[in-house]
Amino acid sequence: MAFTLPDLPYSKDALAPHISAETLEFHHGKHHKTYVDKANAALDGSGYDGSDLDATVKKSWDAKDMGMFNNAAQIWNHTFYWNSMSPKGGGAPTGEIADAITKSFGSFEKFADEFKNAGATQFGSGWAWLVKNGDKLEVRKTPNAETPLTDAGVTPLITMDVWEHAYYLDYQNRRPDYMGAFLGNLINWDFANANLRA
Ligand code: FE
Repeated sequence: MAFTLPDLPYSKDALAPHISAETLEFHHGKHHKTYVDKANAALDGSGYDGSDLDATVKKSWDAKDMGMFNNAAQIWNHTFYWNSMSPKGGGAPTGEIADAITKSFGSFEKFADEFKNAGATQFGSGWAWLVKNGDKLEVRKTPNAETPLTDAGVTPLITMDVWEHAYYLDYQNRRPDYMGAFLGNLINWDFANANLRA
């Protein structure tokens, strides 16, 4: 069974003007698809089962098989990223995640500062994350394809892609403006709540 490219959870123009249809066309249709194609090319005779993406990410990370890990993790990270945004997202959290954020960070504003700082200080390509670690929420950053999915006891709740390909067409080098739009207009708290409950 091969890996598959999941559809976006919204139409390509649904996140505009914050993220354009053109960006999603390239980011989902070219970048994400290329990770799927490369992971499938690496499947042959590898002993991995392409039908179980989570297991492949963890197994290739443990084996330091970066040829498989980089592509499989990027499939997982991007799917998680699409769901971390919503056309109706952005702003202060609602539901259980709101209380959990206040408890762990002091306030939504303090969380937002820490999350944006993680994205801003991730040198080069990578990801900013909100995760649950035991009873606490934490902000993390990972380089390249690395993902908290491989950390035992850690549950990813939200991710923000800070590779240039995520924002360059819309914001050029202005990563902070993209991160402001992600938090202000796109972040999907319903998805965070669902992950928190899972
Ligand atoms: Fe990306």
